[in-house]
Amino acid sequence: MPADPVAFAGELLRCRSVTPQEAGALSFLEKMLSGAGFTVHRVVFSESGTDDVENLYARIGVAGPHLVFAGHTDVVPPGDEARWRHPPFAGAIADGVLFGRGAVDMKGAIACALAAVLDYLAVNGGKPKGSISFLISGDEEGVAVNGTVKLLRWAAARGEKFDHCILGEPTNPKELGDMVKIGRRGSLNGTLIVTGTAGHVAYPALADNPVRRIVAIMAALMAEPLDAGSAHFDSSNLEFTSVDVGNKTVNVIPPEARARFNIRFNDHHSQASLKALIAARAHAAAQGGPFRIAWEPSNADVFVTKPGPFVDMVSGAIAEVTGRQPELSTSGGTSDARFIKDYCPVVEFGLVNATMHKIDECVATADLVAVTAVYRRILDRYFNNPP
Ligand SMILES: [Zn+2]
Repeated sequence: MPADPVAFAGELLRCRSVTPQEAGALSFLEKMLSGAGFTVHRVVFSESGTDDVENLYARIGVAGPHLVFAGHTDVVPPGDEARWRHPPFAGAIADGVLFGRGAVDMKGAIACALAAVLDYLAVNGGKPKGSISFLISGDEEGVAVNGTVKLLRWAAARGEKFDHCILGEPTNPKELGDMVKIGRRGSLNGTLIVTGTAGHVAYPALADNPVRRIVAIMAALMAEPLDAGSAHFDSSNLEFTSVDVGNKTVNVIPPEARARFNIRFNDHHSQASLKALIAARAHAAAQGGPFRIAWEPSNADVFVTKPGPFVDMVSGAIAEVTGRQPELSTSGGTSDARFIKDYCPVVEFGLVNATMHKIDECVATADLVAVTAVYRRILDRYFNNPP
């Protein structure tokens, strides 16, 4: 099979790998990579209360530098398949557009990385001047506990050392070359719980209505920004997602009120400093009234891969192929980059994200060719002049 990213993407899209199903997607990669001389490992991870998930790690070369292409072959469910213009797992091409669940998020980019690497190896006598790996999770769209986080730990335990990583999540809002992600905000969930004293609405002096206090605390937490942003990040933001009193009566002052919130935070904060800041602001607004904040555990810390030779190499390759100088962004939700950053610098660049998770998810075949060209240039430069 020639190193054709459109054909590779079609092969992957025909696998019904709705998370956590493997459905042949990793088997296809295994076949192609082992055929090119990679040592391929299929690794299954389990945890009680979650599905077992299959993952793949493949490496060629023994020396450094070591460049890793990371990604996931699992996809979100297709929704109502009858509403798709072309079936979600058929890999149909119409007018230069390839349709299917995972076309941009992110089987397409994995197909591009595979094509770029196979072509690089074919031109370079079958061996990289260093090492190339594929670190492919089957558990990104699900609970993400049996995927990248464990695969990295497994690889580190085997003595694998990574120098740089490219994660092919779809990063471009409109056109290829719009955006590279060099970091991600952290994410933290909490619940504000205000207790009071229940009583009759007609005798409020005999009660202590927690609604008054929760409204005051919520107003205080929403009033002021958490910071003014930083060199690579927008301001951190607290967003209330639910306010609950659960009172079915019209004449009883309730004993408790709750409000759930999520914070997306930048590199001005750690989880600990953020918790202290929110507690202090809530305390001031509560004016001595009882409240507490229950924080949920979070594995989504903020990180940034500082601009430098590696980021320049990636954005330079993108600019040459697409004619656009990509914005270096830290916007959007979290990704597996939050786990990879503990092992090596990671930059995210992939396809256009406009249709991800939607009915009729699709990718222009020209975009697959262009992203392959970007990855191909990165491979040349990376091994000729390591960052
Ligand atoms: Zn994804």
